[in-house]
Amino acid sequence: MIEIQATCTECGVKHFAAVTAAGYQRYIAGGMVQDCFPNMSADYRELFFITGLCGTCWDILIPDDDEDEFDYPLADLGNLLDRIAEDV
Ligand SMILES: [Zn+2]
Repeated sequence: MIEIQATCTECGVKHFAAVTAAGYQRYIAGGMVQDCFPNMSADYRELFFITGLCGTCWDILIPDDDEDEFDYPLADLGNLLDRIAEDV
């Protein structure tokens, strides 16, 4: 195993993780993070290899907007547009 460390770019907390030498070599060779380190949590993949943000800071800085995107049914959106048109 290879010990890796990363400091969160936002809160400055230092994190450590152990990865397999084989996975690390594949990553250096250009492998996909999730393929090279399949057992690593998504939070740690972000911190060590992708954004440099720990899970806590990720949650604060990047709100999960996948589910909110279609919060309003299309019919309601239509009503909203009508109201805006009336105000003009
Ligand atoms: Zn952080």
